[in-house]
Amino acid sequence: MDNKLDKMDKIVSLAKRRGFIYPGSEIYGGLQNAWDFGPLGAEMKMNIKTEWWNRFVRGREDMVGVDTALIMNNKVWEASGHIAGFTDPLSECVKCHHRFRTDQLKSQECPDCGGGLSESRQFNMMLRTYLGATEDKSSEVYFRPETAQGMFVNFSNIIDSSRMKLPFGIAQIGKAFRNEITPGNYIFRTREFEQMEIEYFIPIPKKDADWEESFELWRVAMQEWIAHTGIKASEIHELDVPQNELAHYSKKTIDFEYDFPFGRKELYGLAYRTDFDLKNHGLKYRDSETGQEYYPHVIEPTFGVERALLAAMCSAYTEEDAPTAEDGETDKRVVMKFPAWLAPIKIAVLPLSKKEELSRIARQLATDLRKKFSVMYDETQSIGKRYRRQDEIGTPYCITIDFDSITDNKVTIRDRDTMRQERINTAVVLDYIQSNI
Ligand code: ATP
Repeated sequence: MDNKLDKMDKIVSLAKRRGFIYPGSEIYGGLQNAWDFGPLGAEMKMNIKTEWWNRFVRGREDMVGVDTALIMNNKVWEASGHIAGFTDPLSECVKCHHRFRTDQLKSQECPDCGGGLSESRQFNMMLRTYLGATEDKSSEVYFRPETAQGMFVNFSNIIDSSRMKLPFGIAQIGKAFRNEITPGNYIFRTREFEQMEIEYFIPIPKKDADWEESFELWRVAMQEWIAHTGIKASEIHELDVPQNELAHYSKKTIDFEYDFPFGRKELYGLAYRTDFDLKNHGLKYRDSETGQEYYPHVIEPTFGVERALLAAMCSAYTEEDAPTAEDGETDKRVVMKFPAWLAPIKIAVLPLSKKEELSRIARQLATDLRKKFSVMYDETQSIGKRYRRQDEIGTPYCITIDFDSITDNKVTIRDRDTMRQERINTAVVLDYIQSNI
C-alpha cells in the first residue's frame, strides 16, 4: 500500500513539475480540491475528448452529438428526479462541524476530532447559483450535475432535425458540477469535472434479452475504449451495482472500477435507465412505419474525462533501469508509456547543438511537423537529459539533428519505449511518424 501511495505522490509531483496538473487558485492558497490543467494536461484532455468523439460520434452512423447549456430550467431537474433524489447521506460532527458522507464512515465518531455525529440527513448535491440581478428563491438555478438531461430534453428536436431512427444514440461532452460532500483523491473526485456521455435509445424491450443485448454491446465498446487508453484488462473490475445502491433512474448499472493507487474505485459507468427520463419529460418517439408512438428505453455509457486522464497516467507511469551514455552504467528512467494518440507531445525535435546551421534545419523540420502533430523544440542541456525529459512526459518520438544532417539530409529518430534509434531521410519523417501513430 505504501508503495502505491508513493507512486501517487510521484505522479502528482511529476504532473505539477512538468505542466500536466496544478493546484487550482494556488497563489491564493488554493481552493478545496480544485485543479487546473497545464499545457500538457490540456493537450491530453483534448486528445481524450477528440478520440472519444471520433470513435463514438463521427465514426458511427447511429450516433449524433450535441452541446447543450450548463444551466437549465429548474423544471428539468424536477422531472429528472434530481431535486428530490440526487442526494448523498450527510453526517455532521457536533464538535468540529466537519461533514462526512454517512455511507463512508467507519464508526459513529468524527474521523477528525472523535466528536459525536449528528443524525444522517439527505444532502442535495446540485450546485446552486442565481440567474439575473435578483438573488432570491425565484432566481435560484442549478448547474447541471450530469450532461445527460441536455440530451433527453432535446430528444424531439434531434429526431425532427436529423431524422434519426431507433436504435440510435446522442452523445455529449461537457462540464458537470456536484457539490460533493467529500471531494478528494487528487482529480478523482472534484466539484467541477467533465463528462463524456451517451444516451442510446432502443425500442421498448419485449423481454429482458432485448435491452440486455444493447447493454452488452456497450459493455464491450467500453472495454475496448479502456484498452485503447492504455489500461490493462487486469486493472479493471466490473462491479454489478447491488439493487439497493442503484441511482434513482437505473434498473441495472455496471461500474467499471480501476485499481487507482488509492484504491479500487469507479472509473466509468454503464446504466440501463429504462424509459425513466423520456417518460418524465413526456417525450415520445413516433415509429414512421407503424405510426406507433411510445417512450424509448435508454442505455447510458458514461465516462469522466478527468478519471480517464488519471487512470491513463497511473497505468502509463513506469520506472526502469536504462543505460546511460557511459558504457555499462545505468540509471533510473521514468517513462509515461502513453499510447501515442494520447501523448501530449508526439514529437520532440532536438538539435545536438545550438549552432545556427543545425537550428535552421531543426526549426524547419519542427515547423513542418507542427502542421500535423504537437511538437516540442528543445535545444538546452545534454541530449541524455533531453531524452529523459521527453520520456517523463511520454513523448513517443525524439528526433535529433546532428552535423551530418547538414550534408546527408538524415535525422535520428528514437523510440520512447525501446529507445532504439534509426537514421532516416528528413523527407520521410512525416510519413514514418504518421504510419506509427
Ligand atoms: P461516484 O460513485 O464515484 O460518486 P457516480 O456513480 O456518482 O460516481 P455517475 O453519476 O455515474 O458517477 O457519473 C458518471 C461519471 O462521471 C463517473 O463514472 C465518473 O467518471 C465521473 N464523475 C462522477 N462524479 C465525479 C466527480 N465528483 N469528479 C470527477 N468525476 C466524476
